Amino acid sequence: MTITLSGVTPSGSLTLGNLLGALRQWVRVDQHRPGALFFIADLHALTVDHDPARIRRLTRQAAATYLAAGLDPELCTVFVQSHVEEHTRLSYVLECTATDGEMRRMIQYKEKEARERARGRSVRLSLLTYPALMAADILVYGAEEVPVGDDQAQHVELTRDLAVRFNQRYGHTFVVPRATHPPVAARIMNLQEPGAKMSKSEEGGGGVVYLLDDPDAVRRKVMRAVTDSGSEVAYDREKKPGVSNLLDILAACSGGGERPDELAGRYESYGALKKDVADAVIAVLEPLQERYRELSRDPGYVESVLRGGAERARKLARPRVDAAYAAIGLLAP
Ligand code: ATP
Ligand code: MG
Repeated sequence: MTITLSGVTPSGSLTLGNLLGALRQWVRVDQHRPGALFFIADLHALTVDHDPARIRRLTRQAAATYLAAGLDPELCTVFVQSHVEEHTRLSYVLECTATDGEMRRMIQYKEKEARERARGRSVRLSLLTYPALMAADILVYGAEEVPVGDDQAQHVELTRDLAVRFNQRYGHTFVVPRATHPPVAARIMNLQEPGAKMSKSEEGGGGVVYLLDDPDAVRRKVMRAVTDSGSEVAYDREKKPGVSNLLDILAACSGGGERPDELAGRYESYGALKKDVADAVIAVLEPLQERYRELSRDPGYVESVLRGGAERARKLARPRVDAAYAAIGLLAP
């Protein structure tokens, strides 16, 4: 069984980018492979200034959104990271395997550190040690493949280094994982700022379509999307990033299998394109939102899925953490 692990941090409500770039692939492909694990990385949401009530709400919301998007707990394991204490148990051991220099070299740390300082905030130590927890997320299950975007590739590389180092020094304990880069994964850009990725953690939602936005909000955001100079609808990510982003979204949402450059030829005006994009996005979100509303009426169901998922995850994780504790020299209780 090949264990694969995917997750999202509840740093904001899930976006259209998360759906088209990740969730949809999980639902259509990944969950059908035995050993597929999907988690909500709530511990990772604590590395920067946060509001406790908001994290709790977003964690519940993300879990319900996973299920509403079509993850089936009969096929795969869905759980919340903090419900499986093996992650943090192992993370400490990996902090004792890594060096501070290694952590400080992480590009994401440097970027986020600069951002926190620019906002006049102090930097939490967990922001620096975050890659050890991420390595634990992966190694604790013996995951062989980790589907990630480019921004996480460096962290998976570090995970491999830590696994190899631990194995060499203390005896073979961990599977050395591999990053895989799932195909297509349209990169959806912010509608107000087509040079920047659509992200759930960014403030000011005008350019970000959230999966739970009602149809009016979706239409408003799409109709107000920044387009480019000129009026010709053409697919050119360099020269026409705004229009190209809309064409990418349309191609991903219309389901006809047409490429964005093929779709471009059909439109005479930006307005007509935007109208079709809004319709296509609304049509994709509608069934998801319907299921989400059903799940909201039965919060006990989502909780029971998470409980069952955590139980399964713990069973998978515990033997490896126990082995790592023993190997590194900790006395068994
Ligand atoms: P954050 O701002 O907290 O980093 P995010 O929206 O970038 O949030 P992540 O939790 O970093 O989301 O990523 C979750 C998954 O969604 C990853 O697989 C990532 O590649 C994918 N993803 C995120 N944003 C986009 C996007 N704009 N287009 C396509 N895929 C995306
Ligand atoms: Mg991100």
